[in-house]
Order: sequence, then C-alpha cells, then structure tokens
Amino acid sequence: MICSHTSCSREEKVWLPIDSNHKSEAALHPWCIHCGLVKNISDDNPKKIGYWINVLSSLSHRYSFTQCQKRLIYKELQSFDEFIDTYGTTGSSQIELFEKIVRKHCNINRNNIGTFIC
Ligand SMILES: [Zn+2]
Repeated sequence: MICSHTSCSREEKVWLPIDSNHKSEAALHPWCIHCGLVKNISDDNPKKIGYWINVLSSLSHRYSFTQCQKRLIYKELQSFDEFIDTYGTTGSSQIELFEKIVRKHCNINRNNIGTFIC
C-alpha cells in the first residue's frame, strides 16, 4: 500500500544535499513521519502518472505500438511507486525509468523517446 505521506514539522527537518547533481548544496528537507521517506525539494520535479500516460500515447501513435505493447508498458508504469507516489521522486529518475520500460517492450532509440518528454 502506498503511504499518503505527512511531512514532519519545521523543527524536525534534516540537512541533506539538494540532489545528486548538487552534492555540495545542502538544504533542510522535510521527511514523512509515517514511512521516513525524504521529500524531493530540488527543481527536478517529478510528474504525475497522467503525464507519462500521455507521453506513452504520443509515442504509440508515432511508432505504431500494438495494443499489447501499449498494455504491457502501461501495466509496468503503474507497478512502479515512482510514477504513482512522487513525494521523494525526482523528474530525472522518472525519465530514466520510463525510457527503460518503453525500451524493454519497443525498439526505440533513447533520444527519440526523449523528444516526447518535456
Ligand atoms: Zn510516507
């Protein structure tokens, strides 16, 4: 089951690097008092599952996916918490995962997938 996440109070926030690209820049991060997950506060914002389903739909028109390919990718996207629960996820980790899932089912160049993601 997915945690609904409740951020800790201001006093409980912890100092952590903002993201993996800015290891020297630390900031106070809230974390979830239920599961302990640290919230992503970088500019690298994650997108909701609806966004990724739109990208998948555009890709499938452009590259004529079969219904079966589409269904498999859709199912796999939904199996990852990163697309459903974006509290601690970054946009770039979603992109990486999305490309990996699509490429597992369709032979599309990574750069070509990238052009559908903005
Ligand atoms: Zn939580």
